[in-house]
Amino acid sequence: MNLLILGAPGAGKGTMAQMLQEKLNIPHISTGDIFRYNIKNDTELGRKVKQYIESGALVPDSLTVDLMKDRLQKPDCLKGFLLDGFPRTINQAESLDAILDEMNLNLDNAIYLEVPDEVIIERITGRRVCTECGKTYHIKNNPPIREGLCDVCGKPLIQREDDKEATVIKRLETYHRQTEPLVAYYKNQGKLLVVNGEGSIDSVFQEILRILGVQENDFN
Ligand code: ADP
Ligand code: ADP
Ligand code: ZN
Repeated sequence: MNLLILGAPGAGKGTMAQMLQEKLNIPHISTGDIFRYNIKNDTELGRKVKQYIESGALVPDSLTVDLMKDRLQKPDCLKGFLLDGFPRTINQAESLDAILDEMNLNLDNAIYLEVPDEVIIERITGRRVCTECGKTYHIKNNPPIREGLCDVCGKPLIQREDDKEATVIKRLETYHRQTEPLVAYYKNQGKLLVVNGEGSIDSVFQEILRILGVQENDFN
């Protein structure tokens, strides 16, 4: 399956994409994770994108589209893919269509995780991430076994710089202005699957599997 997951910052895209990647056995490709990895390792790309991300703005389309074009050519994408956090503008969505077209591929569906802004703020400000492996937790909704430490690698959890309240407001504005129009874009293409993202992590995941028509034992 060739899928993407769409929704506000903090809606639960990364959490659901991680679970879907395991269930469907397709790579989870997150532009945010790729950017953060590059910032952490102080690469040329990392240095280019840091200011945008820290201020809650979008990274320019040219950088983002080139990055995704390379990533989609990697052989693991032949079995399908799940894009998370890309596209984020109409221009990126049109570029994605063109890239896939050139590769003779097609997007099957865009999953839209719908979550109201009040819930978003609570989710983002409570988010904590592992400094080592990037796994995501929530101080109330999905806490680690040992406070402040990653269940997988035992390393300390931190709050992302852009998850602090001042930047969150800016990111939500950016989302409503630049990314939300993609809902209509994929609706027009007949590819939109709307999922209510307000339930628990498990119930939202089950709803996504149901709407994709994936049975409990498929792909196991
Ligand atoms: P969230 O999970 O909260 O939605 P992401 O990890 O997807 O956040 O993205 C973090 C930041 O990285 C964004 O606020 C933006 O600055 C940048 N970014 C990620 N994906 C894109 C994209 N497709 N286009 C432009 N900027 C992006
Ligand atoms: P996104 O990738 O859309 O920015 P995340 O997947 O990182 O969002 O989720 C944001 C925060 O909300 C994380 O702390 C995560 O643990 C938590 N979370 C994700 N899905 C749910 C849910 N259905 N109910 C409650 N909390 C959730
Ligand atoms: Zn970890």
